[in-house]
Amino acid sequence: MAHDPEIAELTRAIAEARRAVVFTGAGISTESGIPDFRSPGGIWTRIAPIDFADFLATEEARRETWRRRFAMEDTFRAAAPNRGHRAVAELVCHGAAAAVITQNIDGLHQASGVPADRVIELHGNTTYAHCLDCSRRYELEPLRVVFERDGEAPICDDCGGFVKTATISFGQAMPADAMRRAETETLAADLFIVAGSSLVVYPAAGFPELAKHNGATLVIINREPTGLDRIADLVLHRAIGETLGAAVGID
Ligand SMILES: [Zn+2]
Repeated sequence: MAHDPEIAELTRAIAEARRAVVFTGAGISTESGIPDFRSPGGIWTRIAPIDFADFLATEEARRETWRRRFAMEDTFRAAAPNRGHRAVAELVCHGAAAAVITQNIDGLHQASGVPADRVIELHGNTTYAHCLDCSRRYELEPLRVVFERDGEAPICDDCGGFVKTATISFGQAMPADAMRRAETETLAADLFIVAGSSLVVYPAAGFPELAKHNGATLVIINREPTGLDRIADLVLHRAIGETLGAAVGID
C-alpha cells in the first residue's frame, strides 16, 4: 500500500500511548448496516422517538415502542461486527486500549470480542430487555412471540413491572454507573480516539473534551466534521473500518 501520512500518524499515536480509550458512535455501526437514527434523514427526523415518561404513562406508548423495536429486529440480528469493530477489539484485547465508551446500543463491540466489562454503554443496549422495577433480564425472541400473539407490551413475570429494552430512552436518566466509569477511564487515558461520532449529543460528547483538557491526545475519525475538530490533535474525515483497520493492522 502507498504511504499514507494520516494512517501513519494514527499508528504512531497508538504506539506512543500508554493507555488509550476508544469512544464510538453511530458511524462505526452504519458500516455494519445499522441505521443512524439521529442523522439527517434518519428515523428520528421522520418519527419522533417515544419519550420515557410516555412509555411509563400509557399502554399505547409501550405497545408502539415495542412494535417499532421488533420492526427493527431483522436489521439488528443481521448486523455483524465490521473491520472497525475488529480493530477496536484488537486494541482492547492486546492492552493498548483500556476500554470502549460507546453511544451505540447494538452490542457489536461485545460481538467482536471485546469483553463485556470493557464496554461502557452510555445509551444502554437494545439486544436484550429488562424489567424497569426489578431489573430481571429478558431475551427479545420470546417477548416477540408473545407480543405478536397477544399484541400487549410485556410485563415482568416476577413483579409485574414494565419490561423495556435495556436502552436509555429520551427523557430517561443517563446510567450513573456507566457515566462514572466513562469519566474514570477518560481521566486515566493519554490517548482518546473518537470513531464515528459527530459529538453533538451531551453529556456523551463531554468525554473527548474532558480527555483533551486533561492532557490526552485527541484523535477524531469521522466522515463529517464534528463539533470538536478544532481542539483535536488529529482529525481524519474518513471511513472508520478502513482507517482504524489500516492503522491497527486488521483486515
Ligand atoms: Zn420485575
